[in-house]
Amino acid sequence: MKIGFLGLGHMGAPMAANLVKAGHDVLAFDPVPAAQEQAERDGATVVATAAEAADADTVITMLPNGTLVLDVYAEVLPAAKPGTLFIDCSTIDVADAKAAAVLATDAGHRALDAPVSGGVAGAAAGTLTFMVGGGDADFADALPILEVMGGKVVHCGGSGVGQAAKICNNMLLGISMIGLSEALVLGEKLGLSHQSFFDVVSTASGQSWALTNYAPVPGVVPTSPANNDYQPGFATALMTKDLGLAANALRDNGIDGQLGALAAAIYTRFNQTDSAKDFSAIVTDIRNRSDHEGAE
Ligand code: NAD
Repeated sequence: MKIGFLGLGHMGAPMAANLVKAGHDVLAFDPVPAAQEQAERDGATVVATAAEAADADTVITMLPNGTLVLDVYAEVLPAAKPGTLFIDCSTIDVADAKAAAVLATDAGHRALDAPVSGGVAGAAAGTLTFMVGGGDADFADALPILEVMGGKVVHCGGSGVGQAAKICNNMLLGISMIGLSEALVLGEKLGLSHQSFFDVVSTASGQSWALTNYAPVPGVVPTSPANNDYQPGFATALMTKDLGLAANALRDNGIDGQLGALAAAIYTRFNQTDSAKDFSAIVTDIRNRSDHEGAE
């Protein structure tokens, strides 16, 4: 199949490379020369404009934000042949995702929102989780392509509902990482070792994915970024972005989401100094702001 791929950054480059490996003809576009060179090495056909990448059966976008997605759609939709399937895998506002789908369908095309989780490692391994919003027939057509790049593909509902799943999950993750970190720092102050905390809480009612798979302190979960000076992983800048999207959605939809809004504010402040660190480093911020010495 001929697939246009726009946005060959940390995520897009390995995703496009996996499509090439699976035998697809990938027309790749990114304005950054280093990204173009990498795509060429990976076997894609690099084109000079976004519009040229739209000469395909399916067009995938993996871009930093919703404004760019809407700008790129305005440029590429008129260049695509009628009925082209547009799949946006970027993480963007639910409202922007719906607007992008309306732009595409008004131009005679088909559209899905299909944000991902799994990070750069999942993109490289082809094990991403896709959360898809859009119609049944379009989902069925997209499935074989998404399965090349992902290990799990969930059809969450209509247009925008894939993005809804993404921001709901990440809002919960941000809140739970803050809560876990507060409990860990309180435990430190009260003389509870990280290992004892883990041994009790990992099988008690306070258990969470953040603790058992991604503990924000070193020494208890070997693979967590805390063991590697909080190298991401999932950078604080990206968590801050996703919590901002969630906070917007809470506000726009009249939800009394006090913890979601507070988590966005807490990460926004941390992001001003430590945007490149893994988001689990929020525990160090909580410790630094506490009347507390002698952390383990
Ligand atoms: P990135 O900044 O590394 O890549 C974005 C790419 O888009 C860049 O290469 C940039 O040059 C390119 N771009 C900008 N304008 C363009 C245009 N007009 N046409 C084509 N390309 C253009 O970002 P990333 O980490 O790859 O993330 C991409 C998206 O995936 C974001 O929405 C992010 O929130 C989401 N996401 C990222 C991760 C992660 O771990 N990095 C995980 C899940 C979801």
